[in-house]
Amino acid sequence: MHETAIAQSLVEIISQEAQSRHARPVRAKMSCGELNAVNDEVLSFAFEAIAQGTLCEGTKLQIEHKPLEGTCRACGRVFAIDFAHVKCPNCGGSDFDLRPDAPLLVEQIEFEGLDDGED
Ligand SMILES: [Zn+2]
Repeated sequence: MHETAIAQSLVEIISQEAQSRHARPVRAKMSCGELNAVNDEVLSFAFEAIAQGTLCEGTKLQIEHKPLEGTCRACGRVFAIDFAHVKCPNCGGSDFDLRPDAPLLVEQIEFEGLDDGED
């Protein structure tokens, strides 16, 4: 299953970060492209299951889907593609180059306990 593999690598990436910072990850934000067709619920569930007993246990996962983008051939504008009506928002042209789909990426990890505030 696609999502299980993704969840596995997310747990690994976040755990590594947490270990090097000696902090507990509370929230992690990841993003992926439209074409990856990641199911948020399945991924969150897989992440929670795999995170059990690791540093990521209890970490909230936030998933952002990046829209597919195209570059207008007429004016060079980069825009999010809506397949219902592909049109450049700048010049109205419909001739465009498809940009590569966004990769799976861990964008941000929020940690707890980075600063104990000890005096
Ligand atoms: Zn244009």
